[in-house]
Amino acid sequence: MSELTASGDPRSIGYAMRIQARPGSAVERRWYGHSQLPGTRWAMPKAIATGVQPAPLDDLIFHGGKTVRQMGFRNVYLGSGADWAPSDIQFIDAASKLAMQDSHLNNVMVQYFPGGPLACDAIASLLLSEAKPAELDEPGVQAKIVELFNAGKLGQADLGSTIFNLLLPPGTVLTLDDSSSVAGLGGYHGSVHVGNTTLYYSANVYSQVLPNGTENGIVAFDASWKNVVATLYHEMNEFRTDADVNDAIHQNDNDLLGWMSRQGRECGDQPIFAAGAQHLNLVFQEVLASDGSGRIPVQFMYSNGVHGAEGPVDQPDAP
Ligand SMILES: [Zn+2]
Repeated sequence: MSELTASGDPRSIGYAMRIQARPGSAVERRWYGHSQLPGTRWAMPKAIATGVQPAPLDDLIFHGGKTVRQMGFRNVYLGSGADWAPSDIQFIDAASKLAMQDSHLNNVMVQYFPGGPLACDAIASLLLSEAKPAELDEPGVQAKIVELFNAGKLGQADLGSTIFNLLLPPGTVLTLDDSSSVAGLGGYHGSVHVGNTTLYYSANVYSQVLPNGTENGIVAFDASWKNVVATLYHEMNEFRTDADVNDAIHQNDNDLLGWMSRQGRECGDQPIFAAGAQHLNLVFQEVLASDGSGRIPVQFMYSNGVHGAEGPVDQPDAP
């Protein structure tokens, strides 16, 4: 891919990934194949040593931007109570909290946070009472976050370290530019500025096979709520490790990036691509919670330590 042009919309050419894409989908081809860092491209090694797998080239590199060691999150359910099974909300809230606080899962992520442990607070979720949107694009996502902020509904959270996860109700289609959840988009994360305040958000598809047979989002498990938790886990870890990716893209400034690969991929991206559509279950798994409280559906993240996807581990990976 060519370098970004000064006049072109960086999003239309090639840029850092901040999405979750179904393997083998049009959205994956559109984003994964074309992702790159804005600005100067990283030099690639001239040759790979004999016997060395190419995966280390996918390792994440720290660019000096914002990471969030102590984060918080709040799940915000779009639509209304009529659109959501109470059990879905209950399971999604419980499992997303369990996943983000799980010590064995965090043993993988802590390598990107040298010098201390990770923490994540879950704020009580919010169920809106509005008409369910048929489709939501990123301007719509940002407008919703700003609207909730201006109405005082986001609560007392420390906004600089909290991500608000917008959860789309069943059947709602998520889009980002020309990519759609019916073509494989599972979710994305970003930020929007209101005056001097930065609001961090993610948008997450209720991944399921629709009544007409179309797959909306990324169906990896036997229940949609589990797919949602895996998407939340993906997006929240990418927020943790690369909070200001949206600003980096729009300001064309690599220095705002946190952890990202040479190819412009965040911690959740390579594992899905590497697994591929035929082997989604290699990286979408229900893992045993380290406190023994049950199983948590997650998507494995990229680990520099093993140069690939890594599930929960007993000991922290070295920085
Ligand atoms: Zn991602």
